[in-house]
Amino acid sequence: MGIKENLDIVENRIANACEACGRKRSEVKLVAVSKTKPLTDLEEAYAYGCRDFGENKVQELVDKYEALPKDIRWHMIGHLQRNKVKYIVDKVFLIHSVDSLRLAEEIEKEAAKKAVTVNILVEVNVAGEESKFGTTVSEAVSLVEKISQMPHICVKGLMTIAPYVEDAEDNRRFFAKLKQIYVDIIHKNIDNVFMEELSMGMTGDYEVAIIEGATYVRVGTGIFGERKYKAN
Ligand SMILES: *Cc1c(COP(=O)(O)O)cnc(C)c1O
Repeated sequence: MGIKENLDIVENRIANACEACGRKRSEVKLVAVSKTKPLTDLEEAYAYGCRDFGENKVQELVDKYEALPKDIRWHMIGHLQRNKVKYIVDKVFLIHSVDSLRLAEEIEKEAAKKAVTVNILVEVNVAGEESKFGTTVSEAVSLVEKISQMPHICVKGLMTIAPYVEDAEDNRRFFAKLKQIYVDIIHKNIDNVFMEELSMGMTGDYEVAIIEGATYVRVGTGIFGERKYKAN
């Protein structure tokens, strides 16, 4: 099946999930996760209306940024190394994967140099998986508080990567937990923190994530098909 057909299916499923829980379709934004995919695939999705693309590697994001139209909103969704922050601070629309104070400090430094404000989400490892990045649940609020004092960073919300599961229902509690942390932070009324976005849900579980309050779902395989990684 082609990208257009896949996008129609994803769009339908998002609309149905919104309807099932009484949310407006406009409350949920789709990030087309295009990592490893060639420019032609992104161009096809772009022609069909996609403007939000997600990448997890700095070099790949920069290459695609340079090759594609400037009205694309680029989302950095992968683990970000501090020494690479400088290449993307003025190119990304939103960094979903800020998981430490040291990374935030680097973003602040590079954003100040380029006189930009960077929108970020704090990544929380809600499921506590050892293999995953993200701050712990218990540290999430204090990390948000510390980052909120950085003048060139705007905290827009939270992100999580849920475990890979056969049954999406198994991740519902993790999505609900992220939402709860989000609400707790809203109630703290922290200056310079705008809790608006909850980035959660991927191909296998985005409908459950929407029902639990996602504002961004990150869908790769469901749009572009399986990824092929080079074995080397
Ligand atoms: C790859 C990736 C996705 C998309 O995963 P699919 O299962 O292909 O939809 C979403 N979020 C992050 C952080 C990713 O790295």
